[in-house]
Amino acid sequence: MLPIITDLALLRQPCAWVLAETPIDNLVRDLFRELQEHGAQGLSANQIGPHLRVFVMAMNEQPPICLVNPVILKAKGHQTFEEGCLSLPDQFYVVTRAMMVVIRGEDQHRQAVKLRFSGPGARTALHEYDHLGGRLTIDVGKPLTGPRPQRVRANPPSLMWGNPKLPDRNP
Ligand SMILES: [Zn+2]
Repeated sequence: MLPIITDLALLRQPCAWVLAETPIDNLVRDLFRELQEHGAQGLSANQIGPHLRVFVMAMNEQPPICLVNPVILKAKGHQTFEEGCLSLPDQFYVVTRAMMVVIRGEDQHRQAVKLRFSGPGARTALHEYDHLGGRLTIDVGKPLTGPRPQRVRANPPSLMWGNPKLPDRNP
């Protein structure tokens, strides 16, 4: 298990766009493994080291997905929930995010994809997207004062276009 980065100065540095020639296979493999080992819903590259715009997400009983260079195309509605973060152990913040989001990017094979997330999936995707910009729940939310939230896994996103095989198998 790799250590999760908790240094706020590092986490607040925005990540770089992944170039076509940037090798990411090892990074993606590490992200999928750490996501599973930590039982997390999402994990971004800069939480384990590389400052690159890559994150992975776990979904309800489905293989996890990877998004490289994600760009938000559309966001609708609002939802307000408590969120934890592996980089902020035992700290929960109440965060308002979009209820539905459409994100364009690439999968782990660098194939272009466009995905639509809603509910918990939108929340997780936006949480991880924030990480890539150096934003944390402590920057966008309010401290939770009540009991800790229960974990809810995200439903799979719906593929709008791109690689029809997505979500791919966890390597
Ligand atoms: Zn986080």
